Amino acid sequence: MVGPSHGRQATSDDRSPVPLVDSLGRRLDYLRLSVTDRCNLHCRYCTPPRGSERTDRSTLLTWEEMEGLCEMFVASLGVNRIRITGGEPLIRRGLPDFLDRLRGRLPGTELLLTTNGTLLAENLDALARAGIHRLNLSIDSLRPAIYRAITGRDGLDRVLSALDLATGAGFAIKINVVVLAGVNDDEIPDFVEMTRDRPWSVRFIEPMPFHDARRAPSSWAQIDGDRVREIMERSYDLRSEPCPPSATAAAYRVPGFAGTVGIIYARSRRFCSGCSRLRVSAQGQLRTCLYGAPVLDLKTMIREGMTTAEMDAAVRRVVATRAPNGQEAETARSRAPLGSMASIGG
Ligand code: SAM
Repeated sequence: MVGPSHGRQATSDDRSPVPLVDSLGRRLDYLRLSVTDRCNLHCRYCTPPRGSERTDRSTLLTWEEMEGLCEMFVASLGVNRIRITGGEPLIRRGLPDFLDRLRGRLPGTELLLTTNGTLLAENLDALARAGIHRLNLSIDSLRPAIYRAITGRDGLDRVLSALDLATGAGFAIKINVVVLAGVNDDEIPDFVEMTRDRPWSVRFIEPMPFHDARRAPSSWAQIDGDRVREIMERSYDLRSEPCPPSATAAAYRVPGFAGTVGIIYARSRRFCSGCSRLRVSAQGQLRTCLYGAPVLDLKTMIREGMTTAEMDAAVRRVVATRAPNGQEAETARSRAPLGSMASIGG
């Protein structure tokens, strides 16, 4: 069974994991685990139009179930990086203990966290103790009023001071900025400036029409990654930076700047050919493509007592039929809306 004490035994008798590879030869070794679908911000591009879905807690994976799953993905399926995300991961009670236990069980696995930063300062010590050294921090505006207009809450100062504390404590930081036409696109140069003296990596993300493409504001289509690049090039000399094949961002550096800037072509989906990601939602739904439907209900499999070997085989089966790219995954999903990034696990 995939459980806190049985996962290792039932996997592969201490044999090395057999890598998870899809029919196009893409190796899936990066798991994004959403630990909650709740968030303390209500970003207008993320929260569904009728407000955040309130899910019944019993429908969420327990910490123990998540530990067992992580162990299976690492020990049996060859995952070597796990990103903890949400919703806002730092709002789920028990996260520090979960991370400690995960670190104990998976000493060689890289653990990463994506957060909106509102609760980061008080969690930095716990994250460092769990061996997390790299953080993705979402900050969509550097102006308090715009930050509030996008997220529905004040608190930019708090997030910026957590950013400084985390940098001082030695965390490597990527800053995610969803670019919304007419809302924060005029701040692109200000974000580039953040990389002048600090080793941060600022990544501009194309907004994805998650809830229902037909109802997404039409302005979202007005700005894409190429337009972001043009805006940067008006003021800066951008030089390409090398990226690993599985990267989802094109990266650049302004000569002499300490950090880098990047563009995540999330809507244009230019990086599917190297995608190495698996996603598990807080309710245990596995996705092999952000744009696709869930392909396995891992929670039910665990609660029905499936062995790790059975689950390993089921995961390999769905990976074998993984869509070649996000466009095809979206078509195959038929016209059902995607839900929100918070419910899928961003
Ligand atoms: N709460 C955490 C945070 O804010 O970073 C983690 C979860 S959040 C869903 C992860 C990332 O997804 C954030 O950087 C957020 O801006 C991004 N995101 C959410 N909805 C999006 C959308 N519709 N298009 C593009 N990015 C989106």
